[in-house]
Amino acid sequence: MITLKNVSKWYGHFQVLTDCSTEVKKGEVVVVCGPSGSGKSTLIKTVNGLEPIQKGVIDVNGIQLTDKKTNLAQLRAKVGMVFQHFELFPHLTILENLTLAQVKVLKRDKAAAQEKGLKLLARVGLTAHANKNPGQLSGGQQQRVAIARALCMDPVAMLFDEPTSALDPEMINEVLDVMVELAHEGMTMMVVTHEMGFARKVANRVIFMDEGKIIEDSPKDAFFNNPQSDRAKDFLAKIL
Ligand code: ADP
Ligand code: MG
Repeated sequence: MITLKNVSKWYGHFQVLTDCSTEVKKGEVVVVCGPSGSGKSTLIKTVNGLEPIQKGVIDVNGIQLTDKKTNLAQLRAKVGMVFQHFELFPHLTILENLTLAQVKVLKRDKAAAQEKGLKLLARVGLTAHANKNPGQLSGGQQQRVAIARALCMDPVAMLFDEPTSALDPEMINEVLDVMVELAHEGMTMMVVTHEMGFARKVANRVIFMDEGKIIEDSPKDAFFNNPQSDRAKDFLAKIL
């Protein structure tokens, strides 16, 4: 579903990604972790074309991002992305947040978009909030709306960048629960997170990054029980 081959990226003279290669198969959940500044956000943003790369190849669902003929807007519509800060449109209602891109990008008619929006709102347990504005919801609820909004687009894969790190502790689980359910339903997911409980529960593989490189890319149990590099060992010792 997602293939990265020797991806390198520079911000000016600073090389932020060096020769990153990995593969996420359909239905796989891959957790990306590593110290702050190691390039996790940059890596995940390259996957839906939010960050261009200077070297290497990225392929998502058979579409080459690096091919100049690729319509990035179309690809982005098919790869859901959820960020640390929920980035809902503050002046729109929850339901309007859920329908806007369906109508504008997928050209669904309004009624169909609303039906889909309400269905996904129910799925994240927020039906009662359809007509509120984002500001009236808690952070955890807003993040669940952000996930529902991404799912409204029928994505082929979902990317998450530290979706719970801006939340108060008591709200983290309500968001992780939605993500665990998605994983169990077979969604292909790349998740940047330090929630190792989540990783242990649903990840197929764990990628550990440091200084712009993928240092480890291992099956979950191998990563937790027997990390290969000293850097991953140090990292795990600090966060577990
Ligand atoms: P992480 O998500 O692992 O914390 P990032 O991908 O956000 O790491 O950042 C990796 C490195 O790239 C950091 O050193 C950061 O300062 C740098 N960086 C990130 N975005 C930019 C940018 N737009 N311009 C220049 N440097 C950047
Ligand atoms: Mg980051």
